[in-house]
Amino acid sequence: MKATIIRKEQETPNIHTFYFKTEKEFNYIAGQFTEIQLPLSNPDERGNKRWFTLSSSPTEEFVSITTRLDPVKPSAFKQALFHLESGAQITLAEPMGDFVLPKQKDTSLIFIAGGIGITPMRSMIKWLSDTNEHRDITLYYAAKVMEDMVFLDLFQNTDIKFEPILGSPPSDWQGMTGRLTSKTIMSLPNVLDNTLVYISGPEPMVETFNTELQQGGIPEHRLVMDYFPGYTEQNI
Ligand SMILES: Cc1cc2nc3c(=O)[nH]c(=O)nc-3n(C[C@H](O)[C@H](O)[C@H](O)COP(=O)(O)OP(=O)(O)OC[C@H]3O[C@@H](n4cnc5c(N)ncnc54)[C@H](O)[C@@H]3O)c2cc1C
Repeated sequence: MKATIIRKEQETPNIHTFYFKTEKEFNYIAGQFTEIQLPLSNPDERGNKRWFTLSSSPTEEFVSITTRLDPVKPSAFKQALFHLESGAQITLAEPMGDFVLPKQKDTSLIFIAGGIGITPMRSMIKWLSDTNEHRDITLYYAAKVMEDMVFLDLFQNTDIKFEPILGSPPSDWQGMTGRLTSKTIMSLPNVLDNTLVYISGPEPMVETFNTELQQGGIPEHRLVMDYFPGYTEQNI
């Protein structure tokens, strides 16, 4: 369906959120993704379409996506997206995906997000906050530097347990540092109970957690994964 860009917001030097108004009702569940098609006159070999998680919650007025612009070698798609002005039209595919909250409200959830993989977590946590629904959620959000972290206000002001992890923290940083590994997750007291573990980020990171958490004893059916191809752990 057609959608019109309403505004874009700079979250960090390289990360922007784009807000769209859809021409028809766009019914989605928090955590789902869509495909965006741009009217590119000169696409590169990777074409004019990309998948994006909706960083917005269905409770919000506009649909949004949040993405990075690679400062060194962005694709033709990303360059065009970041140049879009308010009023420009794009095409959105129907929402899809099952990286969504479980129906069972009392299931404990561990969210693991690497870099821009935070987008579905933002959508779900915003939805819970706007609908006043409480769930037992621990969010581990790993990024290289402070400037790569987004949506901190929301995560710090809702009733989730929030553990940000920075690879290169500022000197006054009080949180966890270094790399988030499966060892940290496996050491959580409730992880081998009926907890669901949601993992979202660059493909190599998600694959590593998938393998190691299963080796640690978490059955596959309790791991919910969202892969972001096109990113590596270096450029996330
Ligand atoms: C279900 C799903 C949900 C997703 N959700 C999100 C989301 O919420 N936010 C998000 O940002 N992404 C998301 N993605 C990933 C998204 O679809 C893109 O793959 C990603 O943003 C990279 O975009 P890009 O390919 O335009 O490359 P860029 O972001 O421009 O660049 C990524 C890397 O590719 C390199 N590169 C650029 N052009 C070329 C080229 N021609 N040849 C080789 N390398 C090149 C760049 O140098 C950089 O290292 C999602 C993907 C899926 C499948």
